[in-house]
This record gives sequence, structure tokens and C-alpha cells, in this order.
Amino acid sequence: MSTSDRPTAAARQRELVGLVADLGPTFAERAAGYDREARFPVENYADLRKAGLLGLCIPADHGGLGADFATYGLVSEELGRYCGSTALTFNMHTATMLLCGQIADDLAMSAAERARHERRRAAMFAGVIEKGHIHAQPFSEGNAPGATAGVNTLAVPVDGGWRLRGRKIFASLSGAADRHNVICVTPDDPTIRFMSVRAGAEGLRTEGEWDPLGMRGTVSLTLVMDDVFVPAEAELLPPGVFDQVASRWPHFYLTLSFTYLGIMRAVMDFTDDYLAGRVGPGARRDNPQKQAGWAQLQVAYERTHALARQVLAEAGPDPTHEQVRRAWAAAVSTMETAPELASLAVRVCGGRSLLRPQPLERLYRDARCGATMLPWSVEACLDRLGRAGLSAAEDGEPYA
Ligand SMILES: Cc1cc2nc3c(=O)[nH]c(=O)nc-3n(C[C@H](O)[C@H](O)[C@H](O)COP(=O)(O)OP(=O)(O)OC[C@H]3O[C@@H](n4cnc5c(N)ncnc54)[C@H](O)[C@@H]3O)c2cc1C
Repeated sequence: MSTSDRPTAAARQRELVGLVADLGPTFAERAAGYDREARFPVENYADLRKAGLLGLCIPADHGGLGADFATYGLVSEELGRYCGSTALTFNMHTATMLLCGQIADDLAMSAAERARHERRRAAMFAGVIEKGHIHAQPFSEGNAPGATAGVNTLAVPVDGGWRLRGRKIFASLSGAADRHNVICVTPDDPTIRFMSVRAGAEGLRTEGEWDPLGMRGTVSLTLVMDDVFVPAEAELLPPGVFDQVASRWPHFYLTLSFTYLGIMRAVMDFTDDYLAGRVGPGARRDNPQKQAGWAQLQVAYERTHALARQVLAEAGPDPTHEQVRRAWAAAVSTMETAPELASLAVRVCGGRSLLRPQPLERLYRDARCGATMLPWSVEACLDRLGRAGLSAAEDGEPYA
């Protein structure tokens, strides 16, 4: 293939977003059922697997589609446009691929660690490509807002590996994932470790009930690890590399927000169709109040979208403080504007837009969940932004 025949990066991005766009209408049809039944989107995952999208961010030489972080953001946004729960869980899966793939390549390791990491990630990637493994990323414990603070899950060294004890709240894909990739610490060492727990392992169970406001298809139960054995080779990053992410690749913590940008797009799509009379009780396109509301919605959407796109283009290793502050601002802007936009759309469209099977009430509920998501929850980002450049306590603090 000559250079001129090779697809440009932008064309490749469009191609990968197009894979999701092709699945989109089917996913949008299924979304109401997953929401009503609070059921994991098994059928959507079968389709994602068939389209090769479970390997989206797995490098091409490992059999994946080779997408980078920026392409992931665009694909995730497109997925969120059709089904929020599928996009949010796909985020957990793909975030591990990015962490062990593109991001790990940018972080420091010794030569021996790099060689071991190559072997381990090759096995993990092969599990996804050849066996269709789905990965989850239950980090949250409900103790502290940071990714590098308040981790109580303990990995005790034993022959051949580790025994894990702890619990993770909101473990999305709790009954569906083949691997639950958790962060933990070892005795007397604050270094965060990243280990993969096999579904069905002895001592692993879920707890509680799942009947939340929104994102109901994520099935994010509490995951309890009661002396679960994890073989040594299931430690997915060398010790110390996860901690580097928070200071050297902090945009990693932005991955969640693309789901919510997609939900915003779905709100815009719906409102446009509703006001124009393509769905719902009839056209309202000539009503000046509706037009004023539609104008407001477009300003809010475009403002948020533009900031998110700028920040996506800046994602990479060793960002400047200014870029990280902008990333926090983008997280706040997306996670706050998504529910505001959905709320305004309800007012602008009117009462009948809230009736099922219209999707707006689900979008409204799903959109409300984003602000709570740690470690870059709205509160945590505002807290960091509030101290940025003002407080000495900020110096040397990790970004997540
Ligand atoms: C639908 C859904 C799916 C989710 N899926 C996952 C998942 O797959 N993996 C995962 O890891 N998590 C997931 N989460 C969890 C999410 O990331 C948060 O951890 C969770 O929402 C926190 O809930 P909380 O009630 O403990 O929050 P909070 O009580 O608000 O916060 C947790 C702790 O941090 C403290 N805190 C909060 N903000 C600050 C601040 N600015 N400064 C100091 N302390 C602060 C609080 O006091 C508390 O101790 C999911 C959440 C939702 C809603």
C-alpha cells in the first residue's frame, strides 16, 4: 500500500465510530428493556464482540483494532448516544486495555518489568481476542475520593501469588465480567497494585440488591473478596505503575465522561426529532418558546462538547498543570451539563415527552449518575480546581 492509499488517522477514527453507528439503532431499541429490568446488556456485548470492538484499544499486533485514547473517546461518545449502560460498562472494559496498552507504554518500567509486562498483557489481550473475555474495573470502596488514596483491599503474598481480601462498591458488570481488575495494597506498603480476579474464583461473591435511579444496565453490585487467590501472573501492571498514572497520565480518569457526552447527544437527537414532530404528539417547531429553549440547549451542548474535544486532543503523558486543570473543568462541565441539558429538554419538549416509550426520562436518569463517579467526581474536581494554583497543599499531589 502506498502512503497515499493508507487511511489517515481521521479516516480510521471515522471507520471505528462507524462500527458503533451501525450497531446504534439496535442498541437504542434494546436500551429500554435493559433499563426496565436492570439487566446487563448481554446481547449488545455479543454484537460488540462480533464487530471486534472488545479489542478496540488492543494493539493491532495483538489482534485488536489498535485504537488510541482519543479514538476511544469518540467511539465511547457514539456508544453513549444509543445506550448509556453499554457505554459505561464498555468504558470499564476498555479502560483496562488502555491502561495495560497505550498508557503503560508511556510509563517508566525497568527492562525486566517491561519484558514481564509484555508477557502478561499478551495473555490478557489473547483472552479478549480469542475467548471474548469481558473485563471490569471495580476500584471504588467508598472510603476516599482519590484513585491513589483510601484503598483498603489487601493482597497478602502466598505461594504462587496473592490472597485478596476486601470489597468494592458499584462493581459494574458484577455478574457479567470474566475478569474483575481491582486496585489493592500489600501489607505495610502504600503502593497501589493492579490485579485481575477471575470470575467464579473461590471466595468471590456479590452482595446486595441493584435497583438504582439510572445506568440500571450496568448491574453494579458490591463485590466481596474473601481470601480470593490471584496467581502472580494476574498482576496486570508492575508495582508502582498504577501510581504513575495519577501523576503522569491523569487524562485516564476522564474516560467515563465520554459516555455522558454521548447521552447529551441522545438528548439533542431526541429533542430535535420531538420538536420537529418526527416523534411524539406533533410538531412544535413554530412555537417561539420552544425555539428559545432549543437555542439554549444547543449553546449548552456545543460549549460542553467543544471543551471536551479540546481536552481529548491534549490527552497524553506528562500534561502541563494547565492541561490537567482544563481536564478537571471538562469533567465538571460534562457531568454537570448532562443532567442540566436533560432537565431543560424535558421543560422544552413538555410533559408528554416524559412518557415511555420515549427515551427522554431514561436519559434524564442516566445523565444524573455521572457527577458521582470517582475519582474525578464533580465534587473532587471542584475541590482540586478550587485549590489549583492557590494552595501549597496542591504541590506534588497526584492528580487523581
Ligand atoms: C452507575 C454507577 C456505576 C459505577 N461503576 C463503577 C465501577 O465500575 N467501578 C468503580 O470503581 N466505581 C464505580 N462507580 C462508583 C463511583 O465511581 C463512586 O465511587 C461512587 O459513586 C461513590 O459513592 P459514595 O456514596 O461512596 O460517594 P461519596 O460519599 O460522595 O464519596 C466517597 C468518599 O469520598 C469522600 N469524598 C468525596 N468527595 C470528596 C472531596 N472532594 N474531598 C474529600 N473527600 C471526598 C466522601 O466523604 C466518601 O468518604 C459507579 C457508580 C455509579 C453511580
